[in-house]
Amino acid sequence: MSTEVTGTLVWYYAICPREAWLMAHEMEPEKEFELLAEGRLNQEAHYKRATKELSLPGMRLDQVRREGGRLIVSEVKKSSRFLPATRLQLGYYLWRLHEEGMEASGEILVPKERKRETVELTPELRQEIERTVTTIEALVREPAPPPAKKIPFCKRCAYAEFCWS
Ligand code: SF4
Repeated sequence: MSTEVTGTLVWYYAICPREAWLMAHEMEPEKEFELLAEGRLNQEAHYKRATKELSLPGMRLDQVRREGGRLIVSEVKKSSRFLPATRLQLGYYLWRLHEEGMEASGEILVPKERKRETVELTPELRQEIERTVTTIEALVREPAPPPAKKIPFCKRCAYAEFCWS
């Protein structure tokens, strides 16, 4: 079991805490579903060209660039369906960088919708991230996942059969 909180785990948690528990306990779903694909970095070539990779313990950012002396971390998504979860995921990256002494801004890019949203690590977002990390750490220490709760995303979730059969 991996108890390490990652940006991807934060994303899963924001969608469904049970899913985050299942992922943290490495219960791999059999099939690749859209919901899981949404949580991963989209390696769009035209964004990758202008960016560099940055690694920190337990975190690898594929989409980082400098703009006017400031570090910009991008998160590319296929659609804006899960924006609140993506804001939290990106906020987690900014928080981790801040903890390492690096100030950065974030941007969410949805190329298909020509959408771009800036995310800054405000004191409010920082508090939310710290609360979330503490909650996820406690969640994954639990011996069993929280009960399944029907949400609209269940029908796209890789664990649907596991939760509802
Ligand atoms: S099927 Fe629904 S309840 Fe089960 S892990 Fe997925 S989103 Fe969560």
